[in-house]
This record gives sequence, C-alpha cells and structure tokens, in this order.
Amino acid sequence: MRKYVIVGVQGSGKGTQSMLLARDLGLVHIAVGAIFRRHVDDRTKLGARVRDVIAAGELVEDDVTEAVVRDRLELHDWNHGFVIDGFPRNRHQAEFFLERYDIDAVIHLDLPGDEARRRVLARRVCAECGATEHGGTAHGVAGGARCEACGGELIGRTDDTEESLAERLRLHRENIDSVLDAFRRKERVLTFDASPGVDAVQREIRRVLDLPPPSRP
Ligand code: AMP
Repeated sequence: MRKYVIVGVQGSGKGTQSMLLARDLGLVHIAVGAIFRRHVDDRTKLGARVRDVIAAGELVEDDVTEAVVRDRLELHDWNHGFVIDGFPRNRHQAEFFLERYDIDAVIHLDLPGDEARRRVLARRVCAECGATEHGGTAHGVAGGARCEACGGELIGRTDDTEESLAERLRLHRENIDSVLDAFRRKERVLTFDASPGVDAVQREIRRVLDLPPPSRP
C-alpha cells in the first residue's frame, strides 16, 4: 500500500505525474479539481455550487472540499493505495487531512511562477481521460486534435484564462508554505524541480521514493 499527496503550482505537472504513478503502481488517482469539473459537466447540485468559484480561480469552501475528499476515500477502492492531487490547498485542509489519514510522502513539485503561467496558458486537456497536453510535449498526448492516450477530444480548461490563472497563482503563493509546514510536522515532504520534462521528473520521483522505474510507453 502506497499513499501520496502531490502538491504544486498550476502547470507543475501534478496531474500528469500522478497519472504515471497511478498507472504503474495500481494507485487510485484522486484529483479534486477533476471531481469538481465532473460535477459541473454533469450539472449536479454540487456542480452548480462550485462552477463560478472554479471559473474565477478561487478556492471552493473548505467544508465542501473536505467532504468530497472524505467521501472519495471512504469508497475504499484503493487496495494498492492512492495519490491525491490538488488537495490540500490551504492550512485548514492540511489539518483536516493530517487528523484523519497517514501517508507515505508529500510530493511537492516546484516551478517558477513565469514558467507555470506559460505552461498553463498553452495547455489543453483531454475531455475524456483528463490527460494534459502542453503544446504537444506532454506524456501520453500528441499535439493533434485528439488525445493520444484515449482518442478523446482535447479542450481548453475554462479556468485557464489570464484572470483566473492570476488568482490561482496568488492563492498558491499565499498557501503553499503553510501546507508544507503542517505536513512536515508528521510526514515526509519531498520537493522536486518540475522544470525538466515529464519523464525526467517521473524518474526522479521514483528514485527518491525508492519505487520501481517507469514502464514505457
Ligand atoms: P485543479 O484542477 O487542481 O487546478 O483545480 C481546479 C479548481 O478546482 C481550483 O482552481 C479550485 O477552484 C477547485 N479546487 C480544486 N482543488 C481544491 C481544493 N483542494 N480546495 C478548494 N478548491 C479546489
């Protein structure tokens, strides 16, 4: 059983790196933002509640977000473990998590703000599987019109606009240190330089966490 939390600035590759870990190690990938987006697409009550918040790049209220994470983990479908992506995003969420769960490590992906901005404004995501494409360079997705991993349609995220991104980057800067500090009291926090390519970052994560090297493709 392996349990990880992955945190990092927008565009640092949290989703891509999580998917690679999940695929090879049989982990359940829990992407909180993707759960919210699914609710928006499915027009659920929760979707209606979070839609405008997400579009503006703000954070969904802690009690709503924490309930989503708790309910997801309560499914207990993670026999080999999980990787939680995009949570916690602030001190309150970190304390909520630490009171209830143990993990093996926090994977912190570090990237300068200007590179984060550049990557996010260039990216498209697969409407089906959520894989990310950064101008045709990301793992699993080619620069064409369809997702190489599953053939799904590649679309821009509605919150990947200049305005929303500026708010998300601001919130990240404001909160990341207190999240990492809270985790350091109880868990291993490992910081990785997210500037190199996807495969290089994945190999480094595997090396430091003492995990088997990635299987390709
Ligand atoms: P992400 O896909 O991780 O970039 O998340 C997309 C959006 O979902 C964020 O900009 C927030 O509006 C919302 N969201 C995702 N995770 C959280 C969280 N842990 N706390 C609050 N809001 C979140």
